[in-house]
Amino acid sequence: MKLLVTGGCGFIGSAVVRMAISRGHEVTNLDALTYAANPANLASVESDRRYHFIRADLRNLDATQAAVDAARPDAILHLAAETHVDRSIDAPSVFVETNVNGTANLLQAARAFRDRLPADDRDEFRFLHVSTDEVYGSLGETGLFSETSPYQPNSPYAASKAAADMLVRSWGKTYGLPVLITNCSNNYGPCQFPEKLVPMVILSAIRGRPIPVYGSGTNVRDWLYVDDHADALLRVLESGRCGEIYNIGGDAEMRNIDLVRQLCTLLDEARPTTQSYSDLITFVDDRPGHDHRYAIDAGKIDRELGWRPRTDPRTGLRNTVKWYLDHESWWQGILDNRYDQERLGAGPSAAPQ
Ligand code: NAD
Repeated sequence: MKLLVTGGCGFIGSAVVRMAISRGHEVTNLDALTYAANPANLASVESDRRYHFIRADLRNLDATQAAVDAARPDAILHLAAETHVDRSIDAPSVFVETNVNGTANLLQAARAFRDRLPADDRDEFRFLHVSTDEVYGSLGETGLFSETSPYQPNSPYAASKAAADMLVRSWGKTYGLPVLITNCSNNYGPCQFPEKLVPMVILSAIRGRPIPVYGSGTNVRDWLYVDDHADALLRVLESGRCGEIYNIGGDAEMRNIDLVRQLCTLLDEARPTTQSYSDLITFVDDRPGHDHRYAIDAGKIDRELGWRPRTDPRTGLRNTVKWYLDHESWWQGILDNRYDQERLGAGPSAAPQ
């Protein structure tokens, strides 16, 4: 298939591009190259004749249309987004511009492109929107999010993704665009930007800096290895039913503090020092509006498409720790030039936008 992947220079997008190429697909990667992008994530495929790159910003409709027309895709996998909750607290506008308006632009461009296709190709065309379980809000101590859980987004990030989900749904209902939506839990793995929890812990630890844990550290997330997510997305694209939502989860719930301690233990094994890295754990002010618990019922994608996570968290986390230890030049460039692990989204003291 000819795929157009948006956000392919990011964390999950690059895993999708690498996997799609390895499975014989031709891939055009549309990416604006924001602070979160890292073209080095695609070093292993950049000279492959099936890989193409278009630098374009989804906030620009003309540029988006030109990119879609140039790629002539059989399917679009839409991953490009502003993705960090803390940044959405400090500067929500760009989340609306990219995640909401950018998604609307991509839907318009996809529809215009598809309308010009011969009837057979039009029927085969797919638009897969990659979303998050955060649209469902927060759970108490029990229960799981399903595809029919009500939308109750609590952060500007989650709200912008929820709005994008609604736009995608409406393009399916109103214009007959063959859409699919996936809502996935927290991902971890190689190539994740250091602002997110797992790389934040690893890099703080090996730099001998305090490891920040928000609030009491008892918030619970369901963790999924990034390659398992990429595999699920390709499965949904190939076999999912149009108009459907598929929740994707890791079946690996962990309290943040337990995840942080596990990472410290893995680092103690991989790069021992005189003290345990866990001595660096420091509790800091909580994130405003911090959701307590996310957990996914991934039964539908298992029953319908035979997908379930393959990587157990201990193996995935060990791989991830090893990757960051082995790829210092990847993260050192980011820390030197773009982001030095400063606290973001701390709340009222942050500058309003
Ligand atoms: P990321 O922040 O690592 O990468 C985002 C990519 O999108 C970057 O390469 C960036 O340059 C690009 N981008 C941003 N704005 C753009 C614009 N206006 N035009 C074109 N490109 C633009 O993101 P990620 O963590 O890989 O997440 C990918 C997708 O998966 C997002 O839609 C996110 O909401 C969703 N998701 C992420 C997680 C997670 O745990 N990271 C979980 C569930 C769903």
